[in-house]
Amino acid sequence: MRKMKRIMAALLAGAVLVSGSFPGAFPCRVMAAESEQDLRPAAEYNLGDILNDPELSGALKELIVGFLTALAGSGDDEAAVGPETGPDVQKEEADAQRPEKTEEEFAGPLPTEWDPTELYADEDAFNAEMDYLSEHAYDVEKYRGTLNNVDAILAITEDEEILELDSIYYRAAMYTQMLTSLDASDPWAKQALARFQEASARYMMGSAFVEPEIMALPLSEREKIFSDERLEPYAWSYHKYVDPDRVTLSEETIQAETLLDQAMSHIQSAYSVFDNVDNKRPEITYPDGTTGTLTDAAYSNIMQSNEYDHDFRREANILRASIREPYQNTYAELLAGEMKRNWAEAQLHGYDSTLEYISARDDLDPELFYQIIEFSHSLMPKLHEYFAAQKEMLGLEEMGSYDISIPFNEYEPPEMPYEDCVKLGREAVKFWGDEYIDRFDSIITSGHIDVYPSDTKDTGAYEMQYGGETLPYVMFNFDGLMDYTSTIVHEMGHAVYSEFSAENQNMYYSMPGSYNQEVASTANELIFFKYLIDNASDEDEKKYWIAREITLFFNTIIWQCVLAEFEDYCYKTIEAGNALSAEAMNEKFYELIKNMYGEDILVEPYIGIDWARISHFYIYCYYVYKYATSLTFATAICNKALEDEGEKENYLEYLKAGDSASPEDLLRIAGVDPSDPATYETAKDYFEDLVDQFVEQ
Ligand SMILES: [Zn+2]
Repeated sequence: MRKMKRIMAALLAGAVLVSGSFPGAFPCRVMAAESEQDLRPAAEYNLGDILNDPELSGALKELIVGFLTALAGSGDDEAAVGPETGPDVQKEEADAQRPEKTEEEFAGPLPTEWDPTELYADEDAFNAEMDYLSEHAYDVEKYRGTLNNVDAILAITEDEEILELDSIYYRAAMYTQMLTSLDASDPWAKQALARFQEASARYMMGSAFVEPEIMALPLSEREKIFSDERLEPYAWSYHKYVDPDRVTLSEETIQAETLLDQAMSHIQSAYSVFDNVDNKRPEITYPDGTTGTLTDAAYSNIMQSNEYDHDFRREANILRASIREPYQNTYAELLAGEMKRNWAEAQLHGYDSTLEYISARDDLDPELFYQIIEFSHSLMPKLHEYFAAQKEMLGLEEMGSYDISIPFNEYEPPEMPYEDCVKLGREAVKFWGDEYIDRFDSIITSGHIDVYPSDTKDTGAYEMQYGGETLPYVMFNFDGLMDYTSTIVHEMGHAVYSEFSAENQNMYYSMPGSYNQEVASTANELIFFKYLIDNASDEDEKKYWIAREITLFFNTIIWQCVLAEFEDYCYKTIEAGNALSAEAMNEKFYELIKNMYGEDILVEPYIGIDWARISHFYIYCYYVYKYATSLTFATAICNKALEDEGEKENYLEYLKAGDSASPEDLLRIAGVDPSDPATYETAKDYFEDLVDQFVEQ
């Protein structure tokens, strides 16, 4: 049995909306400028995640549609939300709809397309729910003036009518994200999103009185209420109510923030529309005289193919920088707008820096940010050894950052159909045991995976599960190559984690945050590469996969920390009251990249503008460093599990623990302590050993 996490709980716990992003969709890394081995046809990012999210399936959907029809006066009243149709009852029916995994099913072709009608049969059904959410947005008013005792807090925590509104909220968010991902220019996708934003803003404003009312009680009284054993199952969600330092905004301020947030979110959409639609990609002339548009996919092909020489790759690299260079001031203004908005929010909540605010919101020590940056610096000397070895193998006199992804030996990963990639990835992650594979199979056969690219579909890959009422949804852009399996196991790592959490935790604890989510995904990538290295048929193949794993560390730790350092520089500039100019940003970014690549790689100043293409900066706040911490912790976890079978059990316990404790305490369940230097040493040893293997082989 599982219940959905309540948006109310998230609001109460102060866990919602920074930068309009929602804890539930996990965007993927934007890879390093040139290490496009990982970049495949499209950059790994997700533009559709400015929203939020739920989902449902069959029986539950019919129930709600029936219920809304009843409200409209044409159905029967039995469907109205009451004790018998409360979320728990509905949940069991939803469970009954879940496909049971069988070996036969898995043997057949796998489903490859999302079906939005699984969430809403048609536009009318969606509109009816948005009407309902708007009409009932202020139902929570009945608790106003009562929230000064355990009974009342328990009542609002478990109020089934409010739970039902949460359920609608999550489902609509998931639905609109799905439509937007499939075709953001579709009129219905836009209309549905607008309606959802309007209704959800109302809904959030309706509950704006709750936190101020509770926080108006003396601390001693709050401590008494929240230590009551009846509230124990929700204790972690409510821990902020007993934080003596917590700054609480007034109801009016919360409402103003919610309203303004909608306007401010247009900075993000302005960036997306400008960068993806209005700022057209240039034509490139290939050495054979043919021409083509320099799309992300075309660029990626050039970077990975040894059909072209150093000079042509450099030309392509310069051409890509020229996409954004003429508009550098516009990009700088958009970024400054987004960052100032986050800094404003931090100040409203009483913090001295944006990093402190985001860290507090994530229940993390801000020092962890600087700790991982330090750590990434410690990996650079070994990275430079790797580049030097590559340069020698390729026989290049001059090696640019755009040369590091071309093949260095005879091995090339083959083309492979989606089904075979899934089977390969599944073999690798069998490492985690039967229970893990059982969830993997349920999800991959569920029809909740959208596999192939289309002209209108968003690029990248992501996983989402909001509300925990059905299986997770995953989006891929499968390119037909065996290498894509690393993306499959990455996203499936998120999906299995979400599923375990939702199954095992209550409504408040069912959605783990990003700090932990990327641990579950990168752990799978590590296990996958290890599997391929161990099973390589010859030395060339083995070396190829070792290089891929080194690239994983480069992209996920070192490159993300360069981005994080740049982000921190921008926030510090703004927080000190200084202007964020494009020239200064270009210079800073160039300096960081040059330092990262070291002396053997040619890095020229034109690359400085590359910050402008990193969508995460415009959408998320102090997010990218979490990729780096995640792979670091995942390495420690995998190392333990490789040495001791019993550690796998601890890892599964961790996946099942959801969001039931602080991120650091959760990691301790898996046997990893983020504040212990030994954790970082393990990852460093692992990385250095990989480079040694590559160099010596
Ligand atoms: Zn991820």
